[in-house]
Amino acid sequence: MTAKEIRDSFKQFFESKQHAIVPSAPMVIKDDPTLMFTNAGMNQWKDIILGTRDPEPRRRADTQKCLRVSGKHNDLEEVGHDTYHHTMFEMLGNWSFGDYFKEGAIDMAWEYLVDVLKLNPEDLYVTVFEGSPEENIPRDDEAAKYWSKHVPADHIINGNKHDNFWEMGDTGPCGPCSEIHVDSRTPEQRKASGKSGRELVNQDDPQVIEIWNIVFMQFNRKADGSLEPLSMNVIDTGMGFERLVRMMQGKHSNYDTDVFQPIIKAEQQITGLKYTTFEEETENPISKEQDDINVAMRVCADHLRAVAFSIADGQLPSNAKAGYVIRRILRRAVRYAYTFLGQKEAFLYKLLPTLVEEMGDAFPELKAQQTLIAKVMKEEEDSFLRTLEKGIGMLNDAMEQLKAEGKKELDGVQAFRLFDTYGFPLDLTELICRENGFTVNEEQFNTEMQKQKDRARNAAAVENSDWVELQPGEQQFVGYDYTEYECRILRYRKVT
Ligand code: ATP
Ligand code: MG
Ligand code: MG
Ligand code: MG
Repeated sequence: MTAKEIRDSFKQFFESKQHAIVPSAPMVIKDDPTLMFTNAGMNQWKDIILGTRDPEPRRRADTQKCLRVSGKHNDLEEVGHDTYHHTMFEMLGNWSFGDYFKEGAIDMAWEYLVDVLKLNPEDLYVTVFEGSPEENIPRDDEAAKYWSKHVPADHIINGNKHDNFWEMGDTGPCGPCSEIHVDSRTPEQRKASGKSGRELVNQDDPQVIEIWNIVFMQFNRKADGSLEPLSMNVIDTGMGFERLVRMMQGKHSNYDTDVFQPIIKAEQQITGLKYTTFEEETENPISKEQDDINVAMRVCADHLRAVAFSIADGQLPSNAKAGYVIRRILRRAVRYAYTFLGQKEAFLYKLLPTLVEEMGDAFPELKAQQTLIAKVMKEEEDSFLRTLEKGIGMLNDAMEQLKAEGKKELDGVQAFRLFDTYGFPLDLTELICRENGFTVNEEQFNTEMQKQKDRARNAAAVENSDWVELQPGEQQFVGYDYTEYECRILRYRKVT
């Protein structure tokens, strides 16, 4: 099945189960001071879950554009280095607001994966909440009972609070969840590892990964920390679309599916470099240089989507808040393209037509905004490339100085300044230094980086849960102002 067919089949399946198929909410959130980007399918149903909006229709399903680059869910640093976390991804979801609960949700999830999509049940593992004696929450025996209708006992695994208990924030709706994990290892990998899939669930194995999270919201956490039953039970599920496509297409990397391959082909064409798929890498071990190229191509393919969809949703790169996050994503892609793909000129925007071709039907906003997106991306790339060139000028001066002093090592403070001011990651500085016969003091660099992180940690305390309920006296978002440089300034008023 193609990605498009899989997306459609999800919608068709839940439509046949009386769900209203609803559109994705924007990925950029414009009216919530606690969240800049949609990071899960349930974000748009917050008011229904809190009981302030009509829950009808009580069954809904969709594919939601998500971005996980800030706050509680920040996967940015993984992206490109692993093959299953993206910045922007689609989360397939189905919801029940006071309609079916655990049994219905479990039956439908299983029916869809095994009966409709024909995934091999032997490769599937499910987790259930093990319980928390300190908090007087029992194990989720109910979920375990319903799973055991479909799944043998040795494929049901107890999970801890971190993985199997979802909470809105410090207070509010919460409840246990069950996750479905897929063992997609090759026969050779299984033989070599000597471990069962069961042993590798939640162990960061890139071939035994989580695909679907099914949350059973049944409690309300009160301000004193105690739990009471929720007035309306809610089912909230989220399945990673790109991961599902990978399982369906028998691939071992999300990037080897037809979600990403057309973009990666375009990258190869423009750069004249080759990307190696999982199969090719397995057959012939690859060099460090080839690995760098692969990572860079994955980063660019991924970030292209994040940036293009953000602009389509009205978020331009800027120096403030959400705009700054988008700018940083775009710059990360430019750096990888510059360093490892030899792209000294704007590159990302050239991949846009391929993305629009692939995703423009499912997300018409992309097609509608294509001209603007291309223009903004190219301008951002050009301007950052000029900064990069300036940084290279500074590095050249520093190397001249080292040469004059007969030294061989660039100190870490300078390397960090290049990173901080000119956006040079250590990789890039090292690459240029190496080409000129110098090394970089990595330890010093890391010390400076740690200092920076400590400063940042103290400054960023806002976005640490899926949402926050505002108390009187706190700020509420009321809109945006724009400066002449197109920076969005968020305006707030006090809640009374
Ligand atoms: P993981 O443990 O793999 O980081 P998660 O537990 O953080 O995933 P959830 O918050 O449960 O993810 O989100 C629901 C589903 O969305 C996951 O089961 C997964 O399939 C998908 N998903 C989560 N994060 C990403 C991501 N960064 N890129 C692609 N898919 C993702
Ligand atoms: Mg995660
Ligand atoms: Mg997880
Ligand atoms: Mg999860």
